[in-house]
Amino acid sequence: SKPTVIIIGRPNVGKSTLFNRLVGKKLALVDDQPGVTRDRRMGDAVIAGLEFTVVDTAGWEDEDAETLPGRMRKQTEVSLEGADAALFVIDARAGITPLDEEIARWLREQEVPVVLVANKAEGKAAEAGIYESYSLGLGEPLGISAEHGEGVADLFGGLWPLI
Ligand code: GDP
Ligand code: MG
Repeated sequence: SKPTVIIIGRPNVGKSTLFNRLVGKKLALVDDQPGVTRDRRMGDAVIAGLEFTVVDTAGWEDEDAETLPGRMRKQTEVSLEGADAALFVIDARAGITPLDEEIARWLREQEVPVVLVANKAEGKAAEAGIYESYSLGLGEPLGISAEHGEGVADLFGGLWPLI
């Protein structure tokens, strides 16, 4: 069966926008307000012939899981199990936040291989954030713009060795 790739990140970094870009349809709700992704969404993605199932998540956005262990447990239960790789998305315009660091720390303890994705990377405003994201200890960030479609094909290079 096809490998599964899960999209993880704090609210508002563009996870659902990337998900929609990868599946080529607007299956996930995109909104400026954090927390609009209410449940997991799955879709069929293909990048340059590499086929996989992609999962959009909102575990770190769940209002019922206010504590960090609660959020992590929820995220683990609903999504990371069975994933072959994770796309960890940060907002290159906003830079690295404490929640990004928390998620990164947690991800480094998991078995799943991680591709670091610096989204909203169109234009100069993203440059500092892209460099900052090296500090997460998850390797080289791939700068993309999910909204404009830039760099999304480059995810192939990050994913194919893993899945
Ligand atoms: P999620 O909460 O992580 O799922 O984020 P969303 O996909 O709902 O997007 C949050 C906001 O970021 C929306 O207003 C999107 O239009 C915007 N956004 C997503 N991708 C990009 C991008 O590549 N560049 C810019 N500038 N904005 C983006
Ligand atoms: Mg979302």
